[in-house]
Amino acid sequence: ALSVGIVGLPNVGKSTLFNALTKAQNAQAANYPFCTIEPNVAVVPVPDARLDALAALVNPAQIVPATVRFTDIAGLVAGASKGEGLGNKFLAHIRETEVIVHVARAFEDDDVVHVAGCVDPARDIDVIDTELILADIQVLENRLDRMVKQTKGSKDKELLDKVAAGKRLADHLMDGKPASTVEGADTLAMQALFDDIRPITAKRVIYCANVGEDDPNGESPLVAKVREIAAARGAEVVVVCARMEEELAGLADDERQEFLASYGLTESGLDRVARLAYHTLGLISFFTAGPKEVRAWTITAGEKAPAAAGQIHSDIERGFIRAEVIGYDDYIKHQSEAKCRAAGVLRQEGKDYVMADGDVVHFLFNV
Ligand code: GDP
Repeated sequence: ALSVGIVGLPNVGKSTLFNALTKAQNAQAANYPFCTIEPNVAVVPVPDARLDALAALVNPAQIVPATVRFTDIAGLVAGASKGEGLGNKFLAHIRETEVIVHVARAFEDDDVVHVAGCVDPARDIDVIDTELILADIQVLENRLDRMVKQTKGSKDKELLDKVAAGKRLADHLMDGKPASTVEGADTLAMQALFDDIRPITAKRVIYCANVGEDDPNGESPLVAKVREIAAARGAEVVVVCARMEEELAGLADDERQEFLASYGLTESGLDRVARLAYHTLGLISFFTAGPKEVRAWTITAGEKAPAAAGQIHSDIERGFIRAEVIGYDDYIKHQSEAKCRAAGVLRQEGKDYVMADGDVVHFLFNV
């Protein structure tokens, strides 16, 4: 599953949000017998109306959605990068995730103390971002020291380019800017450096504005501030009310819809976070549909049929012969695989076929 780390200052609502995720996981637990339960991890489905539409046609024994794995990275505070307290352990957890969800407090509530005395999401975001940048500087400087020693008398152009990229990145980070915005981020040298030190601040970020129950659509100036910060980083914002999410996660499906509608909403904040995390990384889904199960599989946009087959099993990728593919819209239009075949919309595709979002697929392979 796609892995997402939740960060934010203490008392901004991370645990509340995470409780909601855990409830959502436990409601689904029967579908994921293979998931071990870990206290700071919640695996939740990515909502996808297409999966439900296919299942309604096929009537399978089981429906398996794509999933997102959330890790609660609590305890990130000012000084974490210097290893104060348990800081470094948290940073290690962040390194393992693909997307960071940065929760910022955008609710006023006199009963909830703020660690810095007043509510100011811009300052809060800056505290966390600064720690992450400092952590990257530390790793980079260690690496750069070693690389510079290697370059003594060396004419290895690749290494020299990488050192130059490292110096450029160090200056950029020292300016308080995230690695994701460094100039020349797509050059070979910078990519090689990123692969090497895996900067935390090169990861995709989604800002999560935790709003009060009185502002479910996020119209307060506090949220406007979060939007401004996100826009400067080319990141998205999700407005969530953690308290409401917690309540929602405990409701049955029909009650959920009613609850959301009463706030003028159609989808829970957690569903939006899961979906956005998925799309932020350029991920798409293809489907397998049979009487045993209808299932969504996750691939990166642009991947070819054999790699997609490899998601299901490495043997299918290795022995790949061809794929029988039905476009999602065709499947819905003709209502079954047999009717798609009869209508001539089931296509035979070879190893160079680039998968499209929503493809319904059968892979043929040699064992
Ligand atoms: P964490 O330290 O970031 O994990 O924060 P918590 O989830 O423990 O939340 C801190 C406090 O803020 C708790 O008392 C929560 O009940 C409260 N809180 C969290 N989200 C909301 C919200 O959306 N509205 C209000 N009014 N309070 C919230």
